[in-house]
Amino acid sequence: MSTTAPPHPVLSLTDLAARLREEIGEDAVSEAPARQYAGDWVVRAPEGTDFVLALPRDTAGVQAVLRLAHDTRTPVVPRGAGSGLSGGAAPTEGAIVLSLERLTRIREIDLLDEVAVVEAGVITADLSAALAPHGAFYAPDPASVRLSTIGGNVATNAGGLHCAKYGVTRESVLGLEAVLADGTLLRTGHRSIKGVTGLDLTQLLIGSEGTLAVITAATVRIRPLPVTRRTLLARFASTAAAAEGVNAISRSPVRPAATELLDGTTLADIDAHSGSSLAERDSTILLLELDGYGLDEQTADLLAALEPAGAAVRLIEDEDEAEHLWELRRSGRGTGADGHRLGEDIAVPKSQLGAIFAALTEIGERYGVTTSAIAHAGDGNLHPALSVPFGEDDAAGELPAPLLAAADELVRAAVELGGTISGEHGIGTAKQRWLDLELSPASRALQRRLKTAFDPLHLLNPGKAL
Ligand SMILES: Cc1cc2nc3c(=O)[nH]c(=O)nc-3n(C[C@H](O)[C@H](O)[C@H](O)COP(=O)(O)OP(=O)(O)OC[C@H]3O[C@@H](n4cnc5c(N)ncnc54)[C@H](O)[C@@H]3O)c2cc1C
Repeated sequence: MSTTAPPHPVLSLTDLAARLREEIGEDAVSEAPARQYAGDWVVRAPEGTDFVLALPRDTAGVQAVLRLAHDTRTPVVPRGAGSGLSGGAAPTEGAIVLSLERLTRIREIDLLDEVAVVEAGVITADLSAALAPHGAFYAPDPASVRLSTIGGNVATNAGGLHCAKYGVTRESVLGLEAVLADGTLLRTGHRSIKGVTGLDLTQLLIGSEGTLAVITAATVRIRPLPVTRRTLLARFASTAAAAEGVNAISRSPVRPAATELLDGTTLADIDAHSGSSLAERDSTILLLELDGYGLDEQTADLLAALEPAGAAVRLIEDEDEAEHLWELRRSGRGTGADGHRLGEDIAVPKSQLGAIFAALTEIGERYGVTTSAIAHAGDGNLHPALSVPFGEDDAAGELPAPLLAAADELVRAAVELGGTISGEHGIGTAKQRWLDLELSPASRALQRRLKTAFDPLHLLNPGKAL
């Protein structure tokens, strides 16, 4: 998309930093930010990109930064914890990186209304830790819960392990406090579970990757902690068989809280870097969690679904072992330090998991690329990894062409199966080249007009997501 280029900033970075210090304080501005602020987990700004880091302490500080950015025509890159995987928080030249990391207050926990009001910089896991003594939890749990912020989760509409049962971030957000590009404070949504007044700006801001407004706080739904949980490990001969296992669960009355798939190559990789012994020949596992009342009934229904589908199911009775298995799942694969590795994030309707696994294998073989997959299988969201060994003729800093071509075919296959180019990591800069595969010209044109309505000068996260 050819977005309107942001107008040229009217201040040098040094003058901008000085003005920011006047607004939000000496210790809240850095002209020489630590390296971590130069990108997210995957995408770094090119070496030498100059930017100023602003670390306001409260919503008024965020408003002051955005007012100044507006007056000086300076682009702004909002940032949570920088745990993103698609480049959304990577700075652009001359930008203010607006980090929300100091907005860490949990303003309110209300058990009767079943809501919490949380500032954007609260680490996701800290919210559930604060809720636990009240017998409650916040359901969306990306594998990065201990790194990511609530604001970042809202901005990317993060998914996670328990989203198959409890829904992704958007299903847990009732309202937002946000600041528009000119510094205007905006409150969207409501505190009641229901509410239909006006256009749903809350849902529009969720997943907007910092391009429409800066989120400073969210009113989120909280839920009673499940009375019990039970972990089961179902082992299948292949990914195809495990995909059939997911279909068997869909046909059954039981809805596991989490259904995570790890294929044979992934299990071998986890074993190699963590010392576990999960891999057995080339089998694939579904790691399942049941929660709530009636666990014995749920277990019986699950076994009745999975065993005829060919699974060998083990009930994990020991809580430490169960927690260790989930920890291994969250920490994921090895680093891929022995070769080039590209991690993908695609989703398909869950009945199509078998078809996308078949496509993954076929594409990998055709391009000579090793493939493996972890999947939030309960909602059809896959994180395939594609890798090739380092070669002598590798161009520095570039992934080999077969790897890129294989990834391209895989993303196209997901869309053809009725899926999407990104299940949960967002578009950022990493996935923009595929936007037209999924969005029609009419949809993209409308999104451009919405962007302009929110941010007429196109200062917020320019060049990202849209
Ligand atoms: C090990 C690991 C596992 C992961 N597992 C998952 C997973 O299971 N599910 C999943 O969905 N993601 C996962 N991720 C990706 C990442 O953690 C999520 O995208 C997360 O929501 C990003 O949060 P953050 O606070 O780090 O945001 P950042 O990376 O700082 O920013 C992400 C995007 O949101 C924007 N943004 C951030 N804060 C705000 C704000 N307050 N207002 C407006 N815009 C804002 C940024 O501009 C950027 O575009 C994983 C990442 C890692 C490293």
